[in-house]
Amino acid sequence: MSNVAERMNRILPSQTIAITQKARQLKAEGQDIISLSAGEPDFDTPEFIKQAAIEAINRGETKYTDVAGTVALRQAVANRLNEDFGLDYRKEEICVSTGGKQVIYNVMTASLNPGDEVIIPAPAWVSYPDIVRLADGSPVIIQTSPENGFRLTADQLRGAITDRTRWLVLNSPCNPTGAAYSGEELKALTDVLLDYPHIWILTDDIYAKLVYDGHVSKTIVQVEPRLRDRTVTMNGVSKAYAMTGWRIGFSAAPEGFTKQLIKLQGQSTSNACSIAQAASVAALSGPQDFIKEMVATYQKRRDLVISALSQVQGLDSGKPEGAFYAFVSVKALIGKTTKTGKTLHNCEDFVTALLEETGVAAVHGAAFLTPGYFRVSYATSTELLEQACARIKQFCESLS
Ligand code: GLU
Repeated sequence: MSNVAERMNRILPSQTIAITQKARQLKAEGQDIISLSAGEPDFDTPEFIKQAAIEAINRGETKYTDVAGTVALRQAVANRLNEDFGLDYRKEEICVSTGGKQVIYNVMTASLNPGDEVIIPAPAWVSYPDIVRLADGSPVIIQTSPENGFRLTADQLRGAITDRTRWLVLNSPCNPTGAAYSGEELKALTDVLLDYPHIWILTDDIYAKLVYDGHVSKTIVQVEPRLRDRTVTMNGVSKAYAMTGWRIGFSAAPEGFTKQLIKLQGQSTSNACSIAQAASVAALSGPQDFIKEMVATYQKRRDLVISALSQVQGLDSGKPEGAFYAFVSVKALIGKTTKTGKTLHNCEDFVTALLEETGVAAVHGAAFLTPGYFRVSYATSTELLEQACARIKQFCESLS
């Protein structure tokens, strides 16, 4: 008899993680690999943040903390949300978890009953639908279009709502497209949501600080305070502070719902790592200027990648406003054959052949629920990006 639960058959391994691990392994074996698959900053965690962690260890802060996180960190989260978005949250409304992923997992597990629907605009980060499925929910995928800059429209949202809809998941800037909503665009969506009091909103703001060309990130409760009592605002230190490995994410939500998140976490992982929490206090409360420098660097890299790839025949991409991804159409190349004789039936074949024949690792669009594209992360050095783009160009031009 199988000892694997039925729910495990509902999900796939995370494709972003699988491809990144494969690239890491090929590199360790000595192959010449450039990984544009990992969605993580190449910058090191700033020194003052690392020092805060070392000091926490030396002070003996190596024990359990409150399940929801230390008071110092929850207060630092509340302060940061206030400073960045003008939001007003008490520490009782904050829960710190082991990465943004655990926040989403807790939210869905704590709220969904079998058959409950969760609206997810696509392209979407690989893990949203599978987390919903694990929690017995049904993901309802709405395809956004490149013509609308991959943004969900008010009409699309209204058309997807049913009596079973429990959540809308919004992610701005978006992984994988980099699309970032303006305040007006969010307002159009919140106006719809006001008509449907049974729907909650999970806003994943993890890339909010990584925006370009003067774009200003807005979040749902800031745009429509009347949605405060049914919104979970999710963020973390991974992307903005180059702290992916520290695994700290957090939520701000009404106290009653936050209590449910804490109850669930108290029966699974308990508190997030005490040392990572101390480091996160420093990150959120310390000087923020280095983020500006990082963003300026990302913007240059975005421009480099978009300009290089737009010169490649068969590739097509818009100019993303945020995050550190380009989502590039390969539709014109489907059906072509590589010089080793492999036919590209779909975008997955494209990224597989790209890796095998050029050593460039990227993630296929189908993993993000939108076939016909591939995602490159430009969170890597200019030199590697130039090399990678040259290899992509050569590969695409060698197809027949
Ligand atoms: N969020 C990142 C990505 O999309 C990290 C990997 C993951 O957890 O999916 O690549």
